[in-house]
Amino acid sequence: MRRKLVVGNWKMNGSRLLNAELLAGLDGAGPWVSDVAVCAPYPYLADVALSLQGKRIAWGAQDCSSREAGAYTGDVSAAMLAEFGCKYVIVGHSERRAYHAESDQLVADKAKIALAHNLTPIVCVGETLAEREANQTDVVVKRQMSAVIHTLGHCISQVVVAYEPVWAIGTGKTATPEQAQAVHALLRTQLHAATPKSAEMQLLYGGSVKPDNAATLFSQPDIDGGLIGGASLKVADFAAICRAAG
Ligand code: PEP
Repeated sequence: MRRKLVVGNWKMNGSRLLNAELLAGLDGAGPWVSDVAVCAPYPYLADVALSLQGKRIAWGAQDCSSREAGAYTGDVSAAMLAEFGCKYVIVGHSERRAYHAESDQLVADKAKIALAHNLTPIVCVGETLAEREANQTDVVVKRQMSAVIHTLGHCISQVVVAYEPVWAIGTGKTATPEQAQAVHALLRTQLHAATPKSAEMQLLYGGSVKPDNAATLFSQPDIDGGLIGGASLKVADFAAICRAAG
């Protein structure tokens, strides 16, 4: 039986004061049956670690370098994230693929180095609206997943996958539970060919998940929780989504 996981992606939002209020509110709203985590901007990781130490909410970052260390100005290594107690790191979010031209291989390399530092990479895949309309959804998500499978080999079973259709992120347009389930089933089949542990892997859905659509999405057989952007910034909404996960 797979555990449900709900991860908040704060993106480039927050302040020390707002984060403290948000985390205090979440602490009071739990505990939940599902696993819960928040992925914060780098400068706040020390504060978040202090606030969440000993609590049931894990934390993580939104990206990491594909390199171990060295002359990579502005980058942050997986080793550094591990020092701050991160459990998760998001890699390959569509905003990084789009605004930082991250390739499938770079995303795979980031997932690999994250695992080497005992972080769980949350690998994001998803098609744009144009790709969906051109019936390319399956081709695109399989290509993105395939780069990670080839780079990680049998370690692929240690990642969390997030299917996030780009057209649903921050737009208020959610994939229907059937659309999301179809892609999740496709991904699980692809993972099944790569690892005997595919049935144990957590596959999250992301894209305008809200309190009123979370339960139906999370009840789909291959959807094991969500990666939540906008709604993770509001205590009541994020808490309701965590409750919807069980
Ligand atoms: C995200 O940023 O991963 C995301 C799913 O955002 P939103 O929930 O706002 O669509």
